Amino acid sequence: MVPAEFGYVAPRTITEALALLERYGDSARLLAGGHSLIPLMKLRLAMPSMLIDLGEITELRGIRDDSGTLVIGATTTHATVAANELVRARYPVLAEAAGQIGDVQVRNRGTIGGSLAHADPAADLPAVMLALDAQLNICSPAGARLVAARSFFEGMFTTQLAATEMLTEIRLPPLPARTGTAYQKAANLASGYAIVGVAVVVTLDSDGAVAAARIGVTGAGAQPVRATTAEAALAGRVPGEANLSMAASAAGHDIEDPLDDMHASADYRRHLVAVHTRRALERAIAAAG
Ligand SMILES: Cc1cc2nc3c(=O)[nH]c(=O)nc-3n(C[C@H](O)[C@H](O)[C@H](O)COP(=O)(O)OP(=O)(O)OC[C@H]3O[C@@H](n4cnc5c(N)ncnc54)[C@H](O)[C@@H]3O)c2cc1C
Repeated sequence: MVPAEFGYVAPRTITEALALLERYGDSARLLAGGHSLIPLMKLRLAMPSMLIDLGEITELRGIRDDSGTLVIGATTTHATVAANELVRARYPVLAEAAGQIGDVQVRNRGTIGGSLAHADPAADLPAVMLALDAQLNICSPAGARLVAARSFFEGMFTTQLAATEMLTEIRLPPLPARTGTAYQKAANLASGYAIVGVAVVVTLDSDGAVAAARIGVTGAGAQPVRATTAEAALAGRVPGEANLSMAASAAGHDIEDPLDDMHASADYRRHLVAVHTRRALERAIAAAG
């Protein structure tokens, strides 16, 4: 449980950090909250020769409004996200999920950017990012690019991020009126990680029919996914017993290759996705109405 030898540097600006990433390349790792990276280093599953600590970079922290888009800095902690008034008022699903991550210590150190970049299949926030249609701002010495959360996750612990890139901001578009949200998870009781987590964002039209629904699922497979068949089953319909049941069941089958491990079998995961989709939909629709 002792990490391999490594160097340490704490830049004060994004530009400085990017220059360091370019200089050290594959042998460097960015350090945010350290709650995933440090355990990996202790197990020697990660052995970077240089750690670039993002903790001194103030421009990476905080939450602000940018003409209706909410911008969250990558090193903003889960605790700050969960407590923020703008997040709670506009994107309650994010506050709800961030407030359920791990325990107080994890929420006080762990960061939104670290969680997304790490892409643990059992992490909560990826599902929320899919449901909120978030855009992720990625910077490198060559410039910046915006990537939709939907294209960001590429597999277990794998994202679009290249070795010289850094996630700097999460941008959340405004939600329309008559939108409700909810996050439901079956948590691992020891760690809090999602065995299955479902984030739902539903917009109703003036007749009470579903104008749009986005359902993000985490924990069930190697990477977070949108439950698109379930979303389509709801579109244009006034939600009732029959189509909620149909959508929930469809969500279970939207997971193409469910994980099968000591925490839950593949069949049980599909079942949990259906159950938690149903619960999240009921709560989101009630909130939208
Ligand atoms: C006991 C325990 C319980 C937990 N329970 C949960 C839970 O219930 N739900 C949940 O979702 N998570 C849980 N976590 C994980 C927690 O949310 C971590 O904080 C998160 O996974 C990683 O964030 P971090 O800021 O600690 O990142 P770090 O550990 O510092 O970094 C993780 C990885 O991301 C990279 N990275 C970090 N920031 C950036 C960036 N800005 N740009 C590019 N790459 C970056 C690092 O190089 C590293 O590879 C738990 C962790 C622990 C230790």
